Amino acid sequence: MNEVRVRLIFHDSLGTRERLAALSGARAFAKFGVTCDCAGACDRKALRHVKAGASLGRIVRAENPVVRTEDLRYEPIWEFMLCPKTIYGMGVTPHPLRNGDAMDQVPEGAATGELPHTMGVGLIGAGGVLSVQRMLETKGELGEKAISAAVRHELGHVFLKGEKGRDHGSSHCTDEKCIMQANENYADFLRRFVEPALDFCRGCQGRIGAAVSRIRYGF
Ligand SMILES: [Zn+2]
Ligand SMILES: [Zn+2]
Repeated sequence: MNEVRVRLIFHDSLGTRERLAALSGARAFAKFGVTCDCAGACDRKALRHVKAGASLGRIVRAENPVVRTEDLRYEPIWEFMLCPKTIYGMGVTPHPLRNGDAMDQVPEGAATGELPHTMGVGLIGAGGVLSVQRMLETKGELGEKAISAAVRHELGHVFLKGEKGRDHGSSHCTDEKCIMQANENYADFLRRFVEPALDFCRGCQGRIGAAVSRIRYGF
C-alpha cells in the first residue's frame, strides 16, 4: 500500500497564520486518506521526495515567480536516480504569480513581467503552486479562509482528471455549490467560493476518493 502524501512548500516570509490556513486546506483531504505536512522552500532535503520538487522549490523561492505546466512535470534524470518521487507538492508564495503557459497571449519576445497573473495552478498527478498575495491583503478571517479554500481548489486539480468536452478538458466542475468551479478573479473567488464556504460536490468527492485509492493500491 502506498502512502498518499501532500507537502506544502512555504516561502520563508510566510507567517504562522498563513501557514496554518494553508494546512487546514490540505487537511480537507484527510477524509480521502491523504496525509499532509509542511516544509520550507529552502529545505532541499524536504523537497527531495516531492514530485518536481526542485522546480517547485525554485518557483517558491523566486522574487517574480512564473509557473509553467512543464515545470510541474519536470524531473531531471539524476533526480530519479537520487530517490523516488512520491509526495505531491503544493508551493505557497507571497508574491504575485505569473502564468508561463500564456506565452501566446503576450507579444513575441515580451518580458515575463507581461505574462498574465494567476492565483494558482494544480496539475493532475503532479503538484501545484499558489500565490497568497491577495489573501495577505484581505483583512481578518476572510483572508485565512481564502487561503484554505485556494489550497483545497488547487489540490483538487492534483487528484481530479479533466473530462472530455467539459471546459476544454479541464477538471473544473459545473456544480454551482462546488469548490472546483472555474473562477474569474480574486473578488469572484471571495464572493462565490470563500464567503459561502464551498466544499467539493458529491461528484468531485467521489472522483477524488477514487483517484486517491488508485494511487494507494497502485492501479
Ligand atoms: Zn481551477
Ligand atoms: Zn464538483
